[in-house]
Amino acid sequence: MKILVAVKRVLDYNVKARVKSDQSGVDLSNVKMSMNPFCEIAVEEAVRMKEKGLAEEIITVSIGPSQAQETLRTSLAMGADRSILIEIDENVEPLAVAKLLKGVVEKESPNLVIMGKQSIDGDNNQTGQMLAALLGWGQGTFASKVEKDGDQLKVTREVDGGLETVGLKLPAVVTTDLRLNEPRYASLPNIMKAKKKPLDTMAPSDFGVDVSPRVVTLKVTEPPKREAGIKVESVEQLVDKLQNEAKVI
Ligand code: AMP
Repeated sequence: MKILVAVKRVLDYNVKARVKSDQSGVDLSNVKMSMNPFCEIAVEEAVRMKEKGLAEEIITVSIGPSQAQETLRTSLAMGADRSILIEIDENVEPLAVAKLLKGVVEKESPNLVIMGKQSIDGDNNQTGQMLAALLGWGQGTFASKVEKDGDQLKVTREVDGGLETVGLKLPAVVTTDLRLNEPRYASLPNIMKAKKKPLDTMAPSDFGVDVSPRVVTLKVTEPPKREAGIKVESVEQLVDKLQNEAKVI
């Protein structure tokens, strides 16, 4: 089995996002960027499948600026075999990402595509579903367990109120939820080895995909600041504050 994993470079999840003064977006100058956490889980799952002898090759792909090479090198250090960067400096919307990934699927013919359920910067939760639809493939989204069952894939999904298990005919698209696995840290020897693994660079035009945006961001604002709490002396005071200050009862 050949597995394709899509990895996105995003603002590191530990960094507090700062909004640009003109409210046009999040300020990404001089901040730490990392692999989207759900994409790390996707890489880990692919590597575990290879370690179990279920996959022979793992290819990772990222669509982004040249710095996304670092993200791809991280995936190579975790255990992927080779990478493809589709280089573009502008932000690419989920539909265009899905179309580019479809182009990579047509070129590489993987049996399985694993991706994150969501990128933590745009919170879109769209790309995996769109890719499955464009390819006409089955999809197992929000996966918390993935098992090979003959020529099918058994995917346990985290849904409201419980777990749902679906059987997917391959080829298929799987998107990862948080509890699927705990990604490994790359060891120093593997980081060194990853530097020698193949990384091809391509352009959106190689796939004939129009990446021009269809959505305009009107405004980005920070969430309102939370006020510090206070301690009340009595139940009467609490009721008074709820009635007269918070006006919730
Ligand atoms: P989204 O639909 O933006 O929430 O992203 C869901 C998943 O699609 C991510 O976790 C990635 O696996 C993949 N994806 C989205 N954007 C990109 C990108 N620019 N490059 C590579 N993969 C991406």
